[in-house]
Amino acid sequence: MTKPLNTAIAWKTADPATPTLADTRGRPLRDLRISVTDRCNFRCTYCMPKEVYGRDFQFLERSQLLSFDEIHRLVKVFHGHGIEKVRITGGEPLVRRQLEKLIGMLAQEPGLDLTLTTNGSLLKQKAQALRDAGLNRVTVSLDSLDDAVFRAMNDVDFPVAKVLEGIEEADRVGLKPIKINMVVKRGMNDQSVVDMARFFKGSGHILRFIEFMDVGNTNGWKMGHVVPSRELVSRINAELPIEPADPNYVGEVAERWRYKDGSGEVGFISSVTQAFCKDCTRARLSAEGSLYTCLFATEGTDLRDLIRSGANDDELAAAIAKVWRVRSDRYSEIRTADTAKLRKVEMSYIGG
Ligand code: SAM
Ligand code: SF4
Ligand code: SF4
Repeated sequence: MTKPLNTAIAWKTADPATPTLADTRGRPLRDLRISVTDRCNFRCTYCMPKEVYGRDFQFLERSQLLSFDEIHRLVKVFHGHGIEKVRITGGEPLVRRQLEKLIGMLAQEPGLDLTLTTNGSLLKQKAQALRDAGLNRVTVSLDSLDDAVFRAMNDVDFPVAKVLEGIEEADRVGLKPIKINMVVKRGMNDQSVVDMARFFKGSGHILRFIEFMDVGNTNGWKMGHVVPSRELVSRINAELPIEPADPNYVGEVAERWRYKDGSGEVGFISSVTQAFCKDCTRARLSAEGSLYTCLFATEGTDLRDLIRSGANDDELAAAIAKVWRVRSDRYSEIRTADTAKLRKVEMSYIGG
């Protein structure tokens, strides 16, 4: 079962009036992921292990975070460079107070697809306000339906049932199609994969399996922990027959497969075993306003300092263009056991 490559599809098209900003490999800037906080109410063992993110861990002070006005201003400038999609992330974005206010501000930007990734713990309470403010969709992370496995993975004893309630509420208020992200780590939750597929099959939600990645330096990543997507495809196909589906556009991160009985689709995000750097159009803004052009970057460019020292929008736009034009990132294409040890920024800081 190899996936056919559809050559007829193209980059997501930006407004033809917007000049294309391209990096050294011809990749346009299309997506912006914004981390609104480095804090989280979970301690997922693969992301914020308690041994590192313990009681005395120094998170960013409020004054170090970009304010909603600063984020809004940067989004407008990025929009001028042709971005089409903004994803709000973290840490856990819903622990940032009054997040719906920021969503309301960003929703004023015409033609921007506005989405959010959350662990779902606060979604039941927040879904309606987020929808009312103009959020289009949500992605909810859920690593297992087995309560004991899930509680052990989030390491704060948080139950599956509450995340499912959040998903239901998001569905009810129309934040859909909902995507469900499951990070698969061998020996930890890979036995939950087929159960997850069966549970969400026919629900209208799109379950995506993410290969465990060597983001940052604190999660003890080893290649042996990665379950290659090919293996997951076979395991699911053996019980719930699936077939490849065409990507929606070049640069789509998840490889799409659909159930042969027409009851929906699943996605596989194979950053480790099938790198997709050549189509990577994503920039990332950390909670304190540094711009990163790769999830595995070591250094960012401080945009907060520029803003706070009085730069105007043209100067901000020029700074962003300067970073993007020299971008040559392709970490996943060149990953080895040695690169995994390099100093890299943490996922909870830069956002997933
Ligand atoms: N707290 C929110 C959440 O969990 O959805 C948003 C931030 S979280 C960093 C974004 C996504 O990154 C989640 O789906 C999470 O499972 C995923 N993630 C975190 N660490 C990862 C790793 N080492 N490999 C693969 N995915 C990871
Ligand atoms: Fe928090 Fe999300 Fe990281 Fe889990 S994956 S610790 S929920 S930021
Ligand atoms: Fe993009 Fe970097 Fe991931 Fe490659 S490794 S897909 S360049 S974020």
